[in-house]
Amino acid sequence: PPDSEQLGRATWTFLHTMAAYYPEKPSSEQQISMRNLLSGFSQFYPCWYCAEHLREEMNKIPPKVESRRALGKWLCDMHNIVNERLDKPIFDCNKINERWKDGPKD
Ligand code: FAD
Repeated sequence: PPDSEQLGRATWTFLHTMAAYYPEKPSSEQQISMRNLLSGFSQFYPCWYCAEHLREEMNKIPPKVESRRALGKWLCDMHNIVNERLDKPIFDCNKINERWKDGPKD
């Protein structure tokens, strides 16, 4: 299987960036598409034990797709659950735009 560290970094970059540019007010079709994308992602993510954990967490806390803000926060929480399991630092979810969209202030 692929290197799970490198795959993970690349995938989080993709997921957080996608969430940062998700519509602020998505249409119901867009909300359904995002739900389907995340569901498919959790089935086909090519680190099988990561995908299994993710599906368990997604069953407990289903994706929030009603707005950009809600999706970004949900994804940040999911990533923090993984961080906690891997003994990595917990990320401050108030900083997702700074990290994944706008860049640092100066
Ligand atoms: P990463 O965790 O890859 O994070 C990259 C960058 O994202 C960080 O440098 C930081 O700037 C930012 N960031 C960190 N936390 C957040 C947050 N909460 N919200 C927004 N931005 C944040 N690895 C395993 O060994 N076991 C697993 O079960 C596992 N499950 C995974 C499940 C998924 C869905 C994904 C995408 C990856 C998974 N990984 C797993 C990989 C793991 O999460 C890391 O990607 C990998 O260990 C590399 O870690 P890293 O320290 O480079 O930073």
